[in-house]
Amino acid sequence: MPYRAEYIWIDGTEPTAQMRSKTKILAVGESPGIWGFDGSSTNQAPGSNSDCVLNPVFQCPDPIRGGDDILVLCEVLLPGTLEPHVTNHRAACVAAAETYADQEPLFGLEQEYTFFKHGRPLGWPDSGVYYPAPQGPYYCGIGATEISGRDIVEAHTTACMQAGLGISGTNAEVMLGQWEFQVGPLGTVEVADHLWTARYLLYRIAEDHGVDASISAKPIKGDWNGAGCHTNFSTNKMRENYDAIIAACEALGGEGVPERHLEGYGHGYEERLTGLHETAHFSEYRYGVSDRGASVRIPWQVAQEQKGYIEDRRPNANIDPYVVTRLITETCCAAMA
Ligand code: ADP
Ligand code: MN
Ligand code: MN
Ligand code: MN
Repeated sequence: MPYRAEYIWIDGTEPTAQMRSKTKILAVGESPGIWGFDGSSTNQAPGSNSDCVLNPVFQCPDPIRGGDDILVLCEVLLPGTLEPHVTNHRAACVAAAETYADQEPLFGLEQEYTFFKHGRPLGWPDSGVYYPAPQGPYYCGIGATEISGRDIVEAHTTACMQAGLGISGTNAEVMLGQWEFQVGPLGTVEVADHLWTARYLLYRIAEDHGVDASISAKPIKGDWNGAGCHTNFSTNKMRENYDAIIAACEALGGEGVPERHLEGYGHGYEERLTGLHETAHFSEYRYGVSDRGASVRIPWQVAQEQKGYIEDRRPNANIDPYVVTRLITETCCAAMA
């Protein structure tokens, strides 16, 4: 029997890239090779020169279709030269990972997201009073008043496990209809490959439920939490001693560094990093033990054990993880080299 490969890629939508996919039928024994698409329909090429190249970089079983079918995550290359397309941030991420491989960087990404139906967060009143009861009972809540979309979350988690992705947990978030899953700890490139593939499965499974999953950083204005992608990070030295933990925190606060990192931390960070809702204001850089109002948090167990990892709380839910893991790898590993 032939089998199906779902080719998945990251498009050129601005300000935040979207995912695209299409299906290729492969013969028995045939492996997924390079393929192409119409870049003029994805904001990646002009109509007069529209071909873009899909280069497979990561593959896993397709838990939605099952059987021999697979998912094939691709990077986008230019036709002819096969150089990375301007929307392809993976290539630079691979280079950073290779440069600092001896420090064995590991990342854990906390992907927050919000389910939407009929233009409103899932579970919010769809007639009469627009807002649900204020935030408080929803985070890690249980029960029909506190929770919406758990069936989708469970199906997504199962699918990630079946695909062999490094999903490490899930929880309901502070705003009704908002959830989180964590991926990692995995290497600089690997964690981003797994996160993009897990996002694909989330969108695809939510679609079957007639629901959209949004990674917007501030889906509802006002006194409602935004959505982040807290980025947990360690190197072999940080996993051994506290001096390296402090060195990483200091490196992230170096001259001009916070500004440069924020440029890659996702569209609309100013709306989310207000200093309220468990964030530090984007204009300040601060790190601290257990401090969820800091830019970078040192978890209390890490202070206790004098080794472990740090959490950069600033990245938005809508990041390209290849950009964020590259920036943190470059900044922290260069300082500790
Ligand atoms: P929070 O308390 O911030 O909600 P979570 O449990 O959601 O924390 O996420 C913690 C993340 O840290 C997980 O993704 C986990 O894989 C990751 N993590 C744990 N140890 C390390 C480590 N040594 N290096 C990098 N990431 C790590
Ligand atoms: Mn978390
Ligand atoms: Mn969270
Ligand atoms: Mn966190």
